[in-house]
Amino acid sequence: MKITDLKCTVLGQYPVIRITTDEGISGLGGAEINKHYLKPHILFYKQYIVDEDPTDVERVMLKIRRLGSFKPWGSSVSAIETALWDIAGKAAGVPVYKLLGGKVRDKARVYNGSVRFELKGVSPEDHAADMAKMKAAREGFTIIKQGIAFHSPMPRAVPGFFYGEIREGIITNRGSLTERGLKHTIACVEAMKEVLGDEVGLALDCGPGLTVPDAIRLAKALEPLNVMWLEDMITGDYIPYVLADLYRDVTVSTSTPIHTGEQIYLRQNFKDLIEKRAVDISGPDPYDIGGIAELKWVAEYADLHGILMAPHGTANGLIGLAALVQVSATLPENYIAFEYPVARPKWWYDIVEGLPDPIVSDGFIDVWDTPGMGVELNEEATRKYLPEEDADFFD
Ligand SMILES: [Mg+2]
Repeated sequence: MKITDLKCTVLGQYPVIRITTDEGISGLGGAEINKHYLKPHILFYKQYIVDEDPTDVERVMLKIRRLGSFKPWGSSVSAIETALWDIAGKAAGVPVYKLLGGKVRDKARVYNGSVRFELKGVSPEDHAADMAKMKAAREGFTIIKQGIAFHSPMPRAVPGFFYGEIREGIITNRGSLTERGLKHTIACVEAMKEVLGDEVGLALDCGPGLTVPDAIRLAKALEPLNVMWLEDMITGDYIPYVLADLYRDVTVSTSTPIHTGEQIYLRQNFKDLIEKRAVDISGPDPYDIGGIAELKWVAEYADLHGILMAPHGTANGLIGLAALVQVSATLPENYIAFEYPVARPKWWYDIVEGLPDPIVSDGFIDVWDTPGMGVELNEEATRKYLPEEDADFFD
């Protein structure tokens, strides 16, 4: 079998790719919402993959893997990797999880991810009210994550939150917390735990942007609350480096589990985090790490070092959801849960076929057994939303 074309369109706000072959089988992949700018970057790789056998996934990846980087520049390579597995599964007539070593679990635990409600304010009461809504969500999540500190409106909305300047746009705020900022953060976590009790686990996305002393103080202060994890306190989303030594300083100072990894590209860049045991939990995203086989490898290596896995995925849409389900089915028992993406706008649910309904029950997704990734775009339904310039997407 040979690859004949790599196509990319933007459906709503999600880049979607389609790899076609000379045997009529095609594969779908994608990238996070709002990354329309990746389209030319994705198409750049076409020259390297046409005429290759898509079922020799690794041999194709060897041609393009070097030409990617940390988030968002590993997304294009990751999209291609997942589409190749989709083809390989369809060609073999088996779900992709079979090709990754087979199923370890029949259902994958997920946490709320992009199931969120509008936070009315930043007080502890507002956080408690928001948590009550998420706890009552129809998906029945057993773990809920909320943003706090620099991963929340707190730096802007709480006067004197930190000793630093507010910077607008994609620039991350960073700096030392004031005592007031630290106390406010802790009070909000206590209020959320009050609502969840010991029925639902609470995870917290915290940065990036905290200093090492603040990260240690926050983690130690929260020890009595038994939170699931503190995520991305120092580096993280869109930070093109890891700083594993700093994470290690935090991790060895506290019993609160420390988590990072969503922006990291390739197994080599997890080496320090894992070998130095610098975190307790890692959260690579299949759409940024370089694909599902890369994620599986990191999970196995992490397991050897006592590190747990909670993969990122909140913005990956429904094609990305399928990749998350396939790989999560195969991870060792260091797997906790993946971050559940919902698709926006809602018409995405009308154009994708193959998902269970409801998708999440009692906090889990049943792993489906259809060949490939197991989701397809309904051509007729999708055409309504296909940009004119991509009219040949299904050809
Ligand atoms: Mg995060």
